[in-house]
Amino acid sequence: MNERKQIKAVGMLSGGLDSTLAVRVMLEQGIQVTALHFRTGFSYPRRDRETGAPLPSDAERAAEMLGVPLEIIEVPEDYIPVVLHPRFGYGSGMNPCVDCRIFLLRQAKAWMETHGHHFVLTGEVAGQRPKSQMRPTLKTVERESGLEGYLLRPLSARLLEPTIPEQRGWVDRGRLYAIEGRGRKEQIALAAEFGITGYAQPSGGCCYLIHQTYSRRLRDFLDREGEEALNAAQAQLLAVGRHLRLESGRKVIVGRHERENDYLESCDMPGVLLATPDHPGPVTLVPGEPTREEIEQAARFTAGYSDGQDEPAVRVEVRRGGGPVEVITVKPLPREEAQALMV
Ligand code: SF4
Repeated sequence: MNERKQIKAVGMLSGGLDSTLAVRVMLEQGIQVTALHFRTGFSYPRRDRETGAPLPSDAERAAEMLGVPLEIIEVPEDYIPVVLHPRFGYGSGMNPCVDCRIFLLRQAKAWMETHGHHFVLTGEVAGQRPKSQMRPTLKTVERESGLEGYLLRPLSARLLEPTIPEQRGWVDRGRLYAIEGRGRKEQIALAAEFGITGYAQPSGGCCYLIHQTYSRRLRDFLDREGEEALNAAQAQLLAVGRHLRLESGRKVIVGRHERENDYLESCDMPGVLLATPDHPGPVTLVPGEPTREEIEQAARFTAGYSDGQDEPAVRVEVRRGGGPVEVITVKPLPREEAQALMV
């Protein structure tokens, strides 16, 4: 029996091109790979553009194409401290990429140990990202994750020190790669060689934390509501709708389309819901216990973003919890005025 077939690796799979290729390179060498994908609570679910129906994630599609088992591990609450207090700081947004990798690789190490696997592999490429993938950082991530010697980056391995899988001959270093830098030409050529098509964009693309709008809202949330208020539900809510802050400091969230309206109605966040019964328009959520004046202001936003925006007065339904619906009539607020309050 080929001894390499008994070697099992844990593959960190985002479903982007690099992690897909890294797994594929290992399969070529006869290594058995189990793919792990972590849901941090800070990433976009994939949806059908027309119907909004949930689609298989990039990781699920990639695992199926590669023919490897996939374990999806949810870590949203444990991940929050990583976002709040990153030892190695943030990237261009609120993305704590170095700490994020360390955290996820520690989880992968624990999984590897309890499931009798031999090493962990990632699709990281040396020098690809300004901070988190520079060579010294790759070393830091390896050390801090507790995986020293057991973390293989097949796409850049020949530029890095040989790992234990290479030293022990589990993996043939001569058939690993020396890809470096931000260009993706080599990966695209390798994908063509392996017949890999339809791959997702680079992995960070679906992480909320690298986006400026999300990062701004998160900073605002932490400043106003405090760190202890951040939980998985709040993290998701920060990605939904238009977010406005009233002068009083109260947050108002206005849905931008049907899917967001449905989300705001069903998310079970304590607060007040507003909608315009006579005109197509948004659902608005005012979290917490807003005052009468705050509800009236939120009603004016709701009317201003509805199809009744040019009417002199618009009726707005106000619902608090499962209580009765109250109807108030307000003058729609021009959108440019609401814009000035946008977070
Ligand atoms: S982009 Fe997001 S998911 Fe990717 S390493 Fe950075 S923080 Fe983590």
